[in-house]
Amino acid sequence: MSLQLRSSLPYECNQVLHPWHKNCIPAAWMLTKPCFRESFKIYCVLYGVTGLIKLRKIRTLKDFRKFLFGLVNDILQSTAFLGTHGLIVMPAYCAGRRILGGINYYGMYFQSLCCTLLTISIERKQRRGALALYMANLAAEVLFKMAVQRRIITPIPNGEILLFSISSAIYTYMLKTTSEHKHNSLLFSIVKLLIGNEECAPSLKIEEPAKPKRKSVYFAVVYKYLKYIKQWPKIQNKNHPICKHKYHCLIHILLGFLKRFSVGVFIQLILHFTSSPLRFLRHPTLFFYTLNRNVFNLGKFFGFYSAIYRLISCLLRNILKYDRPEHGLLAGYLAGFSMIFYKSSTLAMYMMAKLIESIYFKYAADKKVPIIPWFDSVLYALSTALVFHAAIIEPQAMRPAYYKFLERLTGGHFSEVNRPMMDCFGVCSSKLFPNYKLPSLK
Ligand SMILES: [Zn+2]
Ligand SMILES: [Zn+2]
Repeated sequence: MSLQLRSSLPYECNQVLHPWHKNCIPAAWMLTKPCFRESFKIYCVLYGVTGLIKLRKIRTLKDFRKFLFGLVNDILQSTAFLGTHGLIVMPAYCAGRRILGGINYYGMYFQSLCCTLLTISIERKQRRGALALYMANLAAEVLFKMAVQRRIITPIPNGEILLFSISSAIYTYMLKTTSEHKHNSLLFSIVKLLIGNEECAPSLKIEEPAKPKRKSVYFAVVYKYLKYIKQWPKIQNKNHPICKHKYHCLIHILLGFLKRFSVGVFIQLILHFTSSPLRFLRHPTLFFYTLNRNVFNLGKFFGFYSAIYRLISCLLRNILKYDRPEHGLLAGYLAGFSMIFYKSSTLAMYMMAKLIESIYFKYAADKKVPIIPWFDSVLYALSTALVFHAAIIEPQAMRPAYYKFLERLTGGHFSEVNRPMMDCFGVCSSKLFPNYKLPSLK
């Protein structure tokens, strides 16, 4: 049977939007309770962990009281921000249906937008920027999947790797140009750790002259024997005019690989352990039995990133006989292809978004571009409204993990929305719900 496509559905809101309750207010209240409860739990954990880090710096009882008051205040404010979404979104849709005379496809976006503009004003100012960036990333992914579904664009195979390679090229170029990275310093430090300090621009900070290190007895013995190896001067890279690294180019590349590979594997082992720590503590052998080949993926990604970057840099230095920041563009770009071992569109998009943000702030600090007031709040509102719109009408365009998060926030009511009735919008709303059953109406 063919569907008659339309942009407005002439149904009651309890038939489509909140089939779990026939009245609008009780239906909204049933969303509000789990939303506030889950938000409170999430922020207790989040601020609890960051609070533990801050706790180390506290020395006096007065400071501790101030810290505790701030912590409680932050938890309550952020809970109010996230919880309010659950309180106002459904009444906004119900009111929209009454005003427009039906459940309107485009109208729902503007109803979501009114809610998100209001909720972001409740959140702490310091968190708005990070939230906006996170939601903008999600919204970009939603837009991309929507465009693919409508056949407006065809996805490039391994597009996330290409995206990562481009941002990696710019990151490494910037790292080779200057050591000052005020914005987004965390990601710059991570890329710096991957390629090694010797491959970046020297620090501008005036460092105190290092005190001569006293070699331990053991090291002195090892060093004595190392000197007997005929190749030792070659290994040490003492006579290379352009390569600044400590050891011979080949060893520099190999060490780069081994160090980062082991760090990557170590991180994945920790992540594997945290997936079910109590079970592994009770049965330690299970920890090894449940390991699979994927445990090396992050290690290979880190290892090859470092090795390819160093290989290209050393080759360019040896062939051209000079070192320039532009080398970072090619080396970073090619190193980015190591993402083939750890494909992640989320990571690729996050790296690119943070890069654009840091370039913008760099130019804004030099007064070359204006700082737009409320930009973060508006970006959050526009992006979150789009994500909500997709979550209700086109859930297949959502990142599955975020859909699960919304399901948790709404106490499971999110899957009860009558999506088969929304199929008339023509965007396959019920695609993920082939066996949808109406919940029993209260
Ligand atoms: Zn209603
Ligand atoms: Zn070299």
